[in-house]
Amino acid sequence: MHRTVFVWDDAYLDYSFPGDHPFKSFRESRAKKYMEERGFFHHMEMRRPDPDDESILLNVHSRDYVDFVKMKSQEGEGLLDYGDTPAFKGVFESALRRVMGSVTGIRLLAQGYDHAVNLGGGLHHAQWGSASGFCVFNDVAIAAKEGEKFFRRIAIVDVDGHHGDGTQALLYDDPNVLKISLHMYHRGFFPGTGEINEIGTGKGKGYTVNVPLPPGTADDAYIYAFDNVVIPLLDRFQPEAIIIQEGGDSHFDDPLVELKLSTRGYLALVKRIHDLAHRGTGKILLLGGGGYNYDATARVWTVSVAELLGLDDQEVESLHDCCLTSSSAYIMERVKQVVEEVKKVHGI
Ligand SMILES: [Zn+2]
Ligand SMILES: [Zn+2]
Repeated sequence: MHRTVFVWDDAYLDYSFPGDHPFKSFRESRAKKYMEERGFFHHMEMRRPDPDDESILLNVHSRDYVDFVKMKSQEGEGLLDYGDTPAFKGVFESALRRVMGSVTGIRLLAQGYDHAVNLGGGLHHAQWGSASGFCVFNDVAIAAKEGEKFFRRIAIVDVDGHHGDGTQALLYDDPNVLKISLHMYHRGFFPGTGEINEIGTGKGKGYTVNVPLPPGTADDAYIYAFDNVVIPLLDRFQPEAIIIQEGGDSHFDDPLVELKLSTRGYLALVKRIHDLAHRGTGKILLLGGGGYNYDATARVWTVSVAELLGLDDQEVESLHDCCLTSSSAYIMERVKQVVEEVKKVHGI
């Protein structure tokens, strides 16, 4: 019923920026350890990503950019964008492994698995010709493109604290992929996009959905937005596969984002998608993403995988935050206004 595959390669761990850079791969290793300790791997298979296929990057990235990353990866220094994504030795190889993980995940769904997990994926900021926001290659968009070979309609639900701007831009005119991003939106906050009126272009018009949330949005208001926007849209679109980008930086302990989700809030979101998916094909690809409180991120991912496996809640109780979080009355009111506007724009 929940035939699940966990796609993993130790080479993912090499994708970890040096020095005091906030993006560290021990989030992934800790989540895996939590899962091992609780016997998750008796309930799911582990698979390595398919062999590297560099040409798959060209589905969403320019040849020049791919060559540039390769060169920088050998040099091991400098920047891959204009800001905060430094090069390091082997960055090309480890980033490509992560992409292959997400691609393999969607292929395995097509081959009969119900759920696939790639915690190395979810690098949603990478653009056509540039890295961005710690993301070198956009595995989310690449996996969606690969998925279009097998599935007529794919939905991406992005709950990272930041807007999924790269994924949006790379698939902006694509009506076969419904892109929904919920994120913190605030003056000066990265990446600065993700407004309600960004809805897609050409044939893709209406298939990009943004839910910009104010700082301070906690479980109650976030779940309200989810129930009133995400669930009705998924119901209407009837995706044959759902990709969840589950960045852990919407957690209340994250140092870079001021959203206030708890592990229980995250779980509530995944549960809703999981239930909805099983009313259709059941196919879910769960990806990682941001997350700068490493333990909170590892816990978020572990409780989410437990849900996909259909494990008893008690198995992961010790990893949960105490309780669901509450938004102030003011924030609740603002989120309700955002939801009304999104509903109007998308005819829900
Ligand atoms: Zn299931
Ligand atoms: Zn993020």
